[in-house]
Amino acid sequence: MKHLTFEEMTDFVSLRSLDRSSVELIQRVNGHVCRCSECRKKLRAMQTVAEGFASVAASFEKNGKSDCNNVTKNKIENENLTQTRKYRKEF
Ligand SMILES: [Zn+2]
Repeated sequence: MKHLTFEEMTDFVSLRSLDRSSVELIQRVNGHVCRCSECRKKLRAMQTVAEGFASVAASFEKNGKSDCNNVTKNKIENENLTQTRKYRKEF
């Protein structure tokens, strides 16, 4: 089994938009971490850090700015959830 690379994980946690290549990345990362606890731990640690940055960024954007970034982020999170559910069913 080929583990996720550092670049794949950092790309995954810093995704801010959905396009063809990001969807492929999401599928690969989700598919792998469902089977590999080692990469799951690393990814979770990275996500914690990324979420910390995201909430700092969000606090700067409070003053009436468009929240389209949040919408995109939610979309990605929903996408992840769907993928995770799909993989869980396969077990
Ligand atoms: Zn792995």
